[in-house]
Amino acid sequence: MNLDLKSKLPDVGTTIFTVMSVLAAECNAVNLGQGFPDYEMNPELISLVDQAMRSGNNQYVHMNGYIPLREALAEKVRLLYETIIDPDKQITITPGGTYAIYTAITSVLNPGDEVILFQPAYDSYIPNVLVNGGVPVLIDLKFPGYRIDWDEVKSRITTRTRMMIFNSPHNPTGAILNPEDISTLRKIVKDTNILLVSDEVYEHLIFDNLRHESFLWYPDLMERSFVCFSFGKVYHCTGWKLGYCISSPALMKEFRKVHQFNCFSCHTPSQVALASFLQNTQSYTALPSFMQGKRDSFQQMMAATRFTALPSYGSYFQLYMYDRISDESDTAFTIRITREFAVASIPVSVFYLSGKDDKVIRFCFAKKQETLEKAVACLIRV
Ligand code: PMP
Ligand code: GLN
Repeated sequence: MNLDLKSKLPDVGTTIFTVMSVLAAECNAVNLGQGFPDYEMNPELISLVDQAMRSGNNQYVHMNGYIPLREALAEKVRLLYETIIDPDKQITITPGGTYAIYTAITSVLNPGDEVILFQPAYDSYIPNVLVNGGVPVLIDLKFPGYRIDWDEVKSRITTRTRMMIFNSPHNPTGAILNPEDISTLRKIVKDTNILLVSDEVYEHLIFDNLRHESFLWYPDLMERSFVCFSFGKVYHCTGWKLGYCISSPALMKEFRKVHQFNCFSCHTPSQVALASFLQNTQSYTALPSFMQGKRDSFQQMMAATRFTALPSYGSYFQLYMYDRISDESDTAFTIRITREFAVASIPVSVFYLSGKDDKVIRFCFAKKQETLEKAVACLIRV
């Protein structure tokens, strides 16, 4: 039968996260590849979901999200970023951060629009742009610090530039935007119609008392931004696939047009539970030190190996160079150490469309102490 199928994404294969998790399982390896915690999430949050289900919160919730949850988020934004957000017009609960990013892009991008994005880039961004007929304009972060070259950004802006995508704390590098980055960005977009997506799914997972340069701090950026978050990432329950987007009322109106005919509304009991859980500010203020403890412990143990650490300021991730061990490509190296030394990681070259290989690999340290110890005991032998 000839179905005359014309793929909208002809060059897209299976995401590396699935590839490495499958290989890790096959090899019975410690999985420090795909970014998910292996420790238990907060039992209080589990009980709150249980209570929500038992008390009958099992039907469709409001399409924009459970209203008390949106109110709790607006209050959190006021406390953390001193910004007043209208929970009715500016917040939509989504099935995860990935969906929020996809919906933001889909709601405003037209064929031929250019989108500036930075590599290494989280793997969903480029396909999201392409499926909408957009044109990705790729800029490499400067290795090894993974900073943005703003002169290059200025030189790549054209009359067709419709959007720029940012991600801080950054996956896979753990780099973060600093106040100078933000002030340069504000100058660059002023008096343009460029829209912004700010992927902040690693909000709170930021270390060394550094400030999270959320776009929510800046009213001029907020007017043109979709800021995307993930409850799964910050509350250690990636399988919940629940997140949200905050935007200006005008942009959110467009976002909701796409959202209502895609998932319409998200899992009700988790939203009811999170609305109570967020009342306690500790639920998020305790997160930076919790995750920093994991980064520090992993780094300290890894000092006994021949891997060389690059700085990680936030996220779940820590990059390592392996130039003292091998000159293999990063993909070959990660596959070999999964098979021979039973530890899975992610090659950073997969986050570049060109496959640029700086011989750097990513480990996820959002794991139990015993998992990290087990992994390092294997990596010491590499
Ligand atoms: N953006 C980045 C940078 C991520 O690492 C992830 C990882 N999950 C997401 C978005 C998606 O989050 P979610 O699982 O909530 O869809
Ligand atoms: N964000 C996670 C990572 O970078 C994976 C999410 C996914 O598997 N799509 O590892």
